[in-house]
Amino acid sequence: MQNRHYQVIIVGSGVTGSALIYLLAKFSSIESIAILDKYDAIAKVNSDAKYNSQTLHSGDIETNYSLEKAQEVYQASDMVRQYSLRQENAKEIIFPSSKMVLGVGEAEVEAIEKRHKLFAKSFNYMQLLDDKDIAEIEPNVAKNRQQPIKAIGTKSDYCAVDFGNLARSFIANSKTAKKRVEVLLKHKVLATKRTGNTYQLRVKTPTGVQNFHADFVVFSTGAYSLTYAKNLGYGKNYGLLCVAGSFYFGKKTLNGKVYTIQNDKLPFAAVHGDPDICLEGRTRFGPTALILPQLERYRHDTYADYFKVLGLDSHALKALWKLVKEPDIRSYIMRNFAYEIPYIGRKLFVKEVQKIIPSIRSNELKAAKGFGGLRPQIIDKDKEQLMLGEAHIRTQEGLIFNITPSPGASTCLHQGLADADRICEYLQADFDKSGAQKSLQS
Ligand SMILES: Cc1cc2nc3c(=O)[nH]c(=O)nc-3n(C[C@H](O)[C@H](O)[C@H](O)COP(=O)(O)OP(=O)(O)OC[C@H]3O[C@@H](n4cnc5c(N)ncnc54)[C@H](O)[C@@H]3O)c2cc1C
Repeated sequence: MQNRHYQVIIVGSGVTGSALIYLLAKFSSIESIAILDKYDAIAKVNSDAKYNSQTLHSGDIETNYSLEKAQEVYQASDMVRQYSLRQENAKEIIFPSSKMVLGVGEAEVEAIEKRHKLFAKSFNYMQLLDDKDIAEIEPNVAKNRQQPIKAIGTKSDYCAVDFGNLARSFIANSKTAKKRVEVLLKHKVLATKRTGNTYQLRVKTPTGVQNFHADFVVFSTGAYSLTYAKNLGYGKNYGLLCVAGSFYFGKKTLNGKVYTIQNDKLPFAAVHGDPDICLEGRTRFGPTALILPQLERYRHDTYADYFKVLGLDSHALKALWKLVKEPDIRSYIMRNFAYEIPYIGRKLFVKEVQKIIPSIRSNELKAAKGFGGLRPQIIDKDKEQLMLGEAHIRTQEGLIFNITPSPGASTCLHQGLADADRICEYLQADFDKSGAQKSLQS
């Protein structure tokens, strides 16, 4: 009979769970770790390159980050850059390209100039670009412009990542550790309960339902992590708004990433354009922001699960009201519904894309079917507001729940270090945190 007891079980083999198994396998004294995923391959949900924007967020082109937040995100995401560049198959994980954040019209040009002044010292590789500099890097962005433009950007940076390949690399490396590291695909966790000092997980496996046991359980299951948290008595003060992001494809029109200025009232990325790193010759535009009552994109069986975790009460409603009472947010939500309508969506969406490439026509765009995942945005019911970024519930009782909208993939190693710290402290195991950090520095 197989031993189904592990010191640590990680549920979810996306980039969050796989970064953690890598850190625990390589830098801790924990001897037995399993990572379970319900699908037949690693990283099939939001970490798959089809589902996200493939951007290593460094805080330099995301205008809704303050300088302080941008500095934090830079440090966190640079670990992914350094890790990736050290791999033999680095060319399959991380890609260099130009990147810029573009201001269009006088008000945005002024905002770009101000931001550059503020960020110049900390992000000295980012230059203030005028229309001629922009034309040199991205001719189609500067061509046929009626309004003034300026950008903050750089000609080359390792800023595009295939997060699916990154997850596969973490898992391959964790398997080389001389300890019990098991990767169990087609293993769906159905329920979890505490039994004495350990946890019992009921798991649907290819050979039937079995019980697994662990001293510590980490849920890195995207939106589902909040469901598991609530079932185990945590995260009661959180509600969930799931925001899908669709993309449109165009032919090769951009050389690198072109971001636009974000509406700082919104936790979603503004539309950007960039070459798809997995599909030669295609430029991707997006993501849109479509509110959907689902926990995983394109999986209809996750609708019912959404309503179980939604947590709609007067506090959540107040948080949502704060959002929709803003006229520009209301119109943004409506517009994003319209972008999904066949034919009409393309005609409307092209206006967003024309901010990046003025000469593009709607018939040059095609909905990217099957692309774009779902961002699980947390509603903080105590504060009655929508939270920006990820949520991590690190309990004192041998459980962690990671809920990971953007920039979750970029910060996976940083969060993995915090998870590993908590796990090793709880299990009284050793964790060579400084060794891990050193290995992730430039
Ligand atoms: C449109 C869009 C654009 C984005 N762009 C970026 C970007 O450019 N840069 C960036 O850093 N981030 C981006 N993000 C966010 C990023 O994709 C996520 O933060 C990241 O992929 C989350 O990884 P994860 O491992 O936490 O979750 P996931 O990759 O979703 O993995 C969760 C795993 O849990 C498994 N699972 C779920 N339930 C169970 C169960 N019961 N039993 C077993 N396994 C289970 C799933 O099968 C899945 O493999 C974007 C997201 C979206 C939607």
